[in-house]
Amino acid sequence: MVDPSRISMSAATVVHNTQRTCERLTAAAAAAGRDPRSVRLLLATKTQTAEAVRTAVEAARACGIEPLVGENRVQELVAKAAAFADLGVSVHLIGSLQSNKVTHALRALRTPGITGLCVETVDSIVTAQQLVRRWECETPLPIMIQVNVSGESTKSGVPPEDALKLATEIGKMPSLHLTGLMTIGARSPLDDTVSAGFRRLQTLRDELRDSGQPGTAGIKHLSMGMSRDLELAVAAGASVVRVGTAAFGERP
Ligand SMILES: *Cc1c(COP(=O)(O)O)cnc(C)c1O
Repeated sequence: MVDPSRISMSAATVVHNTQRTCERLTAAAAAAGRDPRSVRLLLATKTQTAEAVRTAVEAARACGIEPLVGENRVQELVAKAAAFADLGVSVHLIGSLQSNKVTHALRALRTPGITGLCVETVDSIVTAQQLVRRWECETPLPIMIQVNVSGESTKSGVPPEDALKLATEIGKMPSLHLTGLMTIGARSPLDDTVSAGFRRLQTLRDELRDSGQPGTAGIKHLSMGMSRDLELAVAAGASVVRVGTAAFGERP
């Protein structure tokens, strides 16, 4: 049996934490001289129940912010797709995509009721080709390229110097729509180091957009910044910040 007082306690905490996150985001935009509506809040929902996700989405909406949600694991995406559809949210895949899961991931993202979708973690031609093969819609699939700006070997993503080549190849694939770049910030206690990575992604976005290569002119988004570094990311031009812990509390 679940103790109901514990459930409402944790729901109240999620509401409070999500409100606080919305305030941080608004304050970060103001501090950077940016329109708060130019930065989307993506709730990173890994390990969270559908109930907790609903609580956070509704809390953000009550603050006047329409959040996106992001899942890392295809299995969890599949399990929560109906709940996401019920909430009428846009859903992004933010974890690396194994080739044997592509079909399941795309099917889940196309659940009727889900209002938008994006695969943020394309970091190779092979992944791009697999998406092309399994995307069976007329409208192109929105994707981002994941870039490893920190160079940390534990992180996925193309090295910055290979991003233009990948973007150019993706630009030749009419069923993919390259909308932006995604990165995970450096694991460093030094703000300058983390900021330098975010600024690198911003510069790279501009370089790709101005490269003149087919399919690159519309590259717009910068998905960067998490609970610990969202202010630095917003200052460097983030258009999507991905927040888990700050909204939901520590993961088990
Ligand atoms: C978990 C996760 C986040 C959110 O991280 P927090 O530190 O909990 O805010 C953001 N992006 C990705 C890719 C993640 O896996």
